[in-house]
Amino acid sequence: MMKLKKLKNLLKEYFETFKYNLFFYSSMPEETKAANSNAPEDFSKIENQPCPMCLSNSMTLMEFSQDVPFFGTVYIISMQCTKCKYRKSDIEPAEKRDPARYTLEITCEEDMNIRVVRSSEATVKIPRMASIEPGAAANGFVTNVEGLLNRIKVKIEHLRDGAEDNVARKKAKNMLKKLQNVMWGKDTMKLIIEDPTGNSAIISEKAEIKKLKK
Ligand SMILES: [Zn+2]
Repeated sequence: MMKLKKLKNLLKEYFETFKYNLFFYSSMPEETKAANSNAPEDFSKIENQPCPMCLSNSMTLMEFSQDVPFFGTVYIISMQCTKCKYRKSDIEPAEKRDPARYTLEITCEEDMNIRVVRSSEATVKIPRMASIEPGAAANGFVTNVEGLLNRIKVKIEHLRDGAEDNVARKKAKNMLKKLQNVMWGKDTMKLIIEDPTGNSAIISEKAEIKKLKK
């Protein structure tokens, strides 16, 4: 279990980043909280911390661990401001791994259940469709392929709704159609997760793992 001190340091780190980048975070990503199907066994919480967004002392920090089969313990950290509703989450595996790129060919409906661990440092890519970029505004989470595709779906729906011309709207609509077919097992798609920290993974024998240079 990580100490609360570590949580506080993490918040301080974010705070420093936000001081300089506040402008860029006016629109927060859809990814909000760590997907967690199991009830957390160890759970710690500190309330009334300074919020990097609205600067009031209304931030709640939470931390718990989750056991991910064939991967190990993952610490999940989440922060939420009760005042401005700002949220951020990240993950940290107990076990250190080498920087790696995971490539999964999604070919059937069963692939929706493949577990995915994504740290905020990872780039998630679906070639020719969409990507989730890393960085201070990114969230880390434990989910499955379906959960990840749903996040991407929400992003593309925003693109569709905000499209200024018919070409862009049609493109987004076609992507959504493809995504839905992949989720139903009627089409295939490549999913890539690249993490220079080594903290992310696609947990499946089907996933191809390539080491990245440190
Ligand atoms: Zn706030």
